[in-house]
Amino acid sequence: MLGRAGLAAELIERTIGPRDVVCGGFLGWDALAALDRLGIDAWVLGARAIGRVRLVGGERLVEATLPHRAAGLSRRILDEALMDAAARAGALVRRGVAVRAAEGAHRVRLDTGETIEAEALLLATGKHELRGLARPREAIAADPVVGFRTALAPSVSLEQALQGVIELHLFDGGYAGLLLQEDGSANLCVSVARDRISQAGGIAELIARLSKELPHLGQRIHGGGAGEWQAVAGIPYGWRAKGTEPGLFRLGDQGAVIASLAGDGIAIALASGIEAAAALLRHGPQGAQAFQAGFAGRARRPLAIASKLRGAAENGRTRRSLMRLLRWAPFLLAIGARLTRFGR
Ligand SMILES: Cc1cc2nc3c(=O)[nH]c(=O)nc-3n(C[C@H](O)[C@H](O)[C@H](O)COP(=O)(O)OP(=O)(O)OC[C@H]3O[C@@H](n4cnc5c(N)ncnc54)[C@H](O)[C@@H]3O)c2cc1C
Repeated sequence: MLGRAGLAAELIERTIGPRDVVCGGFLGWDALAALDRLGIDAWVLGARAIGRVRLVGGERLVEATLPHRAAGLSRRILDEALMDAAARAGALVRRGVAVRAAEGAHRVRLDTGETIEAEALLLATGKHELRGLARPREAIAADPVVGFRTALAPSVSLEQALQGVIELHLFDGGYAGLLLQEDGSANLCVSVARDRISQAGGIAELIARLSKELPHLGQRIHGGGAGEWQAVAGIPYGWRAKGTEPGLFRLGDQGAVIASLAGDGIAIALASGIEAAAALLRHGPQGAQAFQAGFAGRARRPLAIASKLRGAAENGRTRRSLMRLLRWAPFLLAIGARLTRFGR
């Protein structure tokens, strides 16, 4: 958006080319609408349509139709499409260069030794902290969570089981999400309390244990065969940046982190970028504070509801009650999906 408006926008991305990201790859209807607004058609990129959500809690299974069509797309494809679009729009995209530290909102130091001075800084480092502008330690320390993901190789059984559906397997301390991606493989993404990984002795050991405890999940994993795992630690679910300084716009996970079970982090990241660019174009660097306050305010409800749902899903007793309730009234699942959307 800044490039299109003719501003000298520079995008610094430390990775060099397409790579996998710890993410479920679920694009809600709000994320699809935001992409559309940016001129990116997820269906042209190969996204798989998703119309239903399936919750699996032990032996119980509940399914509901989503209020609108959603999609499954790997971040390997999506992120490259976003960066290509930025370059086409006139932004200078620099890959393989990392920002090492920020000195306030107007100056950053790169790992090349170079310094960049700018009128505004749009901070979008996701879960990674940038020296000089890191989130407070308490944001993470209270509830240490680890996320990890892999791709399950395409198979007839996975294709049949996951056609048109996002599947969430709930267990004590976390959940595993599964959906089909553009190449027919299934993205398997897990969010779990750090303690559960240490108790099991590692990620592979935890997956082996979960496959035994959760027969449906075990079936899916054996139906595909897991590839390489990527992991990320210290996810500050529920955190919001309530304030900022002139010139500093905190985007995506640097602005608000929704519990990943809701599958709305991508929509939030896209919306924050669109809104920040609009604020910067209209009000200049002075627009940062009003943008951040408005963004934090709008994120409050979806983040709070997603945190409550996560709490209920990850605790054995409340999960059983939740599953009983949803079996009786599965439409509540669709309402939950709607209430945890940041965008409309
Ligand atoms: C387990 C799990 C499952 C999830 N599943 C879903 C889902 O299904 N659907 C959904 O909508 N959301 C999901 N999310 C949330 C979603 O992944 C994030 O909210 C979203 O990616 C945030 O986008 P972002 O742009 O803020 O950060 P990111 O997507 O993390 O992007 C940050 C970028 O900054 C780069 N970077 C970082 N530091 C530097 C630096 N110093 N210099 C240069 N570049 C740097 C990184 O390489 C990266 O490309 C999930 C999250 C987790 C943990």
